[in-house]
Amino acid sequence: MPFIALLGVPGAGKGTQAKRLSAALALPHVSSGDLFRENLKHGTPIGQEAEKYLSRGELVPDAITIEMIEERLAQTDGAAGAILDGFPRTARQADALENMAGGSLRAAVHVEVPIERLVERMAGRRVCREQGHVYHTKHKPPKEWGICDIDGSELYQRDDDKPETVRHRLKVYEEQTAPLVEYYRERGVLVTVNGDQPIEAVTEAILSSLEQEATS
Ligand SMILES: [Zn+2]
Repeated sequence: MPFIALLGVPGAGKGTQAKRLSAALALPHVSSGDLFRENLKHGTPIGQEAEKYLSRGELVPDAITIEMIEERLAQTDGAAGAILDGFPRTARQADALENMAGGSLRAAVHVEVPIERLVERMAGRRVCREQGHVYHTKHKPPKEWGICDIDGSELYQRDDDKPETVRHRLKVYEEQTAPLVEYYRERGVLVTVNGDQPIEAVTEAILSSLEQEATS
């Protein structure tokens, strides 16, 4: 029953890698973000609990998040293992995962991307005023500078994407991730991969580290 947890700051490509690993290893992709959205949408007991906190702009307590993941892993396809994305985020969640996985957590994969690289990526994002179409000054520029290709409205940079805001947000996440990285290093299951390379290369790096891990 291999369980593989992905760690890393937002924008490091955890979600993308989780999907690719899920396909390569034939294990379900369990994303805490997706599960929250589903539970909220269907108004499940967990969704209703979570909403109380979210509507006040508060963090959902560990106990609720843990219950949600437990429920998901109790489904038949979760028994064979899973690729966990966005969970665990705290030491308490990591302890809970150890119990759920019954000692079969195979690896915690830290997808590492220098903060300045992510700042650069996000700082290039531009959004259109009319419908929120997303562009990137470098990776997906509009045909005409500053104008949306689809509806012709003005493109602007959201406050959330301004370098100083992004930098601050990522530092906070990195500080939260650091103890988890330590947690898994101490247990000898930490795999660190360079996330600052093409998507395919990151997946290959993860898969070959997992293979080495399994044969060592
Ligand atoms: Zn547009």
